[in-house]
Amino acid sequence: MMIRLTAALCAALCAALCAPAASATATNPPYLLKPARVFDGVDPKPHEAWTVLVRADKIEAVGPNVPTPADAIVIDLPGKTLLPGLIEGHSHLFLHPYNETSWDDQVLHEPLALRTARATVAAKATLLAGFTTVRDLGTEGAGYADVGLKQAIEQGIIPGPRMLVATRALVATGAYGPKGFEANVAIPQGAEEADGANLVTAVRHQIGAGADVVKLYADYHWRPGEPSRPTFSQAEMQAAVEAAHSAGRIVAAHANTAEGMRRAVLAGVDTIEHGGEGTPEVFKLMRERGVTYCPTLAASDAVARYRGWNGADPAPPMVAQARKAFGLARAAGVTLCVGGDVGVFAHGENAREIELMVAAGMPAAQVLVAATSGNAQSFHMGDQIGALKPGLLADVIAVEGDPTRDIHAVRAVQFVMKGGKVYAK
Ligand SMILES: [Zn+2]
Repeated sequence: MMIRLTAALCAALCAALCAPAASATATNPPYLLKPARVFDGVDPKPHEAWTVLVRADKIEAVGPNVPTPADAIVIDLPGKTLLPGLIEGHSHLFLHPYNETSWDDQVLHEPLALRTARATVAAKATLLAGFTTVRDLGTEGAGYADVGLKQAIEQGIIPGPRMLVATRALVATGAYGPKGFEANVAIPQGAEEADGANLVTAVRHQIGAGADVVKLYADYHWRPGEPSRPTFSQAEMQAAVEAAHSAGRIVAAHANTAEGMRRAVLAGVDTIEHGGEGTPEVFKLMRERGVTYCPTLAASDAVARYRGWNGADPAPPMVAQARKAFGLARAAGVTLCVGGDVGVFAHGENAREIELMVAAGMPAAQVLVAATSGNAQSFHMGDQIGALKPGLLADVIAVEGDPTRDIHAVRAVQFVMKGGKVYAK
């Protein structure tokens, strides 16, 4: 009786405290994964006939002669390539494609509960597409709902990727949107407005509320229809970056203009998003300062298609500009992040960015390294995820075929494991 009570109490406590009841525990038998080949996320060359041993939530062994423990569950994956779970570098789980509902209408008219319910579906689609981690760069008007979404995933309530969240993101007063209303009326905005000393206060508030990454808009369209121009001063961003870094958070800067990029880089941000007007000089500066570039090719591609482009050459100016910046960044040797700004296009279609980077000239294996160990390092998570090596979290996917030979294989996801738990097989 005593034992049964204790066990019941234990189960109740575990449900309440060790909430990832859904994740593997040390008492579960280990998994031996036997694919045709293993792409470890670091070496651009896949290894034929390697296997991966997973125990609890971690990778225990990887290689050609991993012994099979007597109690192991063997998962045969013939013809398939095993990879580390892919890492989405730039998502918005609280947005859905703009050809369904405009960004303005999502921010202004969709109830928070609707947006959150939709985000749970987006999270599941992301995970099942093989993206086991996302850096979600702002809820775009959905407040701090990303923090709750992340908790729901961590507690095993809903399936979804690991999340690095930015919460509301930060914009200079007057710079962001939605715009075009009577100026005396307070209109809900897609991010939090803050300037000067208040910017540091806002950074700290967002971190205290759950932000893993601080997102700053270094430039934007001040008025509808005008080109992007810088918003924050370099000094403002530098103070924000210092506050974020001292709290152990990374900083992402939205920047399209060369001057916005230059200020953000000199201010010490970790990644630059978009960068369409980046010049050879600014990419050289990024390389020197070790700033990662997230070109978001898929976002400009998607928006151009919503405006009627059929994908054929010649590409419209916004697509051509993104491809050019990508080429300049590669020529300058800048570290590249893989992040498509997914949410502008459908969640679960995250592989589009990978395909477009390959189409723009980057070798497939290099893009896959960038989408795994590369993103992990840029986000300061290289000691936890991004590679198939002993001691890292068991975030592992299998795709049909060999994506280093044909990149489109990354869409043929046949198996998804996150933290040692199998989500799709
Ligand atoms: Zn974005």
